[in-house]
Amino acid sequence: MFEINLDLVKKYDKPGPRYTSYPTAPHFNESFTHEDYLDEIIKTNYGENLPELSLYFHLPYCDTLCYFCGCNMLITRNRDRVKEYIKYVKKEIDLLRTYILTDRKVSQLHWGGGTPTHLLPDEINDLASYIKSSFNFKIDSENGCEIDPRELTREHLEALRNNGFNRISMGVQDFNEKVQKAINRIQPEDITRQTVTWVRELGFNSINLDLIYGLPFQTLNSFAETVEKIIDISPDRIAVFNYAYVPWMKKHMALIHDEDLPKPEIKLDIIKMTIEKLTSAGYVFIGMDHFAKPDDELAIALKEKKLCRNFQGYSTHAATDLYSMGITAISQLNNIYTQNFKTEKEYYNAIDCDTLPIAKGYMLSYDDHLRREIIMKLMCNFELDINETEKKFKINFNDYFSWGMNNLKQFEDDNLVRLKKDKITVTEMGKLLIRNIAINFDKYIESKEDTAKYSKTI
Ligand code: SF4
Repeated sequence: MFEINLDLVKKYDKPGPRYTSYPTAPHFNESFTHEDYLDEIIKTNYGENLPELSLYFHLPYCDTLCYFCGCNMLITRNRDRVKEYIKYVKKEIDLLRTYILTDRKVSQLHWGGGTPTHLLPDEINDLASYIKSSFNFKIDSENGCEIDPRELTREHLEALRNNGFNRISMGVQDFNEKVQKAINRIQPEDITRQTVTWVRELGFNSINLDLIYGLPFQTLNSFAETVEKIIDISPDRIAVFNYAYVPWMKKHMALIHDEDLPKPEIKLDIIKMTIEKLTSAGYVFIGMDHFAKPDDELAIALKEKKLCRNFQGYSTHAATDLYSMGITAISQLNNIYTQNFKTEKEYYNAIDCDTLPIAKGYMLSYDDHLRREIIMKLMCNFELDINETEKKFKINFNDYFSWGMNNLKQFEDDNLVRLKKDKITVTEMGKLLIRNIAINFDKYIESKEDTAKYSKTI
């Protein structure tokens, strides 16, 4: 069992990015143009031994509003609106695929939202088969979809499975009825269990369940009951997210009353209990907020130091170019990040003009590449080979990162990292505070450009 030192959590619990990218999305800017994007697409589709592809589709619609929601979503029951969106996503696929070499293999596909299963089974069939016929999928590609059990039938899951989806992820958040009522997400336990049964019967390879702590009315005991029920359901992966209450950024969060939220001490007790219960039940602590069974690919990748990180969090697929479609979707190629327009109107207008619908982007410098590699290695492998980094980037590590290495001495004293001449190693306890370790290599944190923009670790 992994025992948590709460004093250290309290000491280091400062806001920090989740580093699904470096630099992070707030640094993407509108001076990045459509031509910049096309240039990079053309460059990265030239030559031999090109990396495999990842595809992400953002399907933003949901039936009802969950008051805690931090996603880019749109609430609608208008089926025509959904149909129109699917039509435009297909047009975006058509625009994009003209630039991508046809023999490049797709190793990873993800549908996120919103709620992708807000699409009807026929619409799932329609879009999924269009995607399959537009790209060249590997036979063993990892195809995941986020689902919402509250508006799901077995036919939705059959449509996904028949189209090659093999991974399912769904939100549970908390089984407690009082909590569910306060967040406007009534999801009875039997619906969740029924959905998991269907997922298993239909032969999906893996199921992930999401929990959130820090929601209104949660107590140590009430959340312990939820964790025990999750262990009983026995998903392959579990993510336990800290609720970021930011009503000044997401107005609907004001529907949750500040005074109903658990106090920071309760949240600390909850995360300690959760980690200890999950690891005692045999789950491997992957890092930050993710857990997996020891035979799950994520746990194996962690052991083999092949874990990587993308916009969906931890992943087993390194070195792929990520093309993302739909509103707000973020793409990543070697030197760039781009993000699509946020509204349907802007997104449709761009596509109607036969342009890829990007609103902004970012071109990485040499320094960004160096820092991205260090941050991702620390976040994923939990160690960094200093000699290798010096050779690859032709730097003197301790000179280049004197600010960060100096800060890390305190982390070393607290047994969160081990610092050797040629290696930084993160300890088990350090894995929980990995964001706070990684920020020591973030240029924007060092130059104090980023202050309190991010949520806290716990
Ligand atoms: S279903 Fe998911 S994306 Fe939709 S409102 Fe609820 S939490 Fe947000």
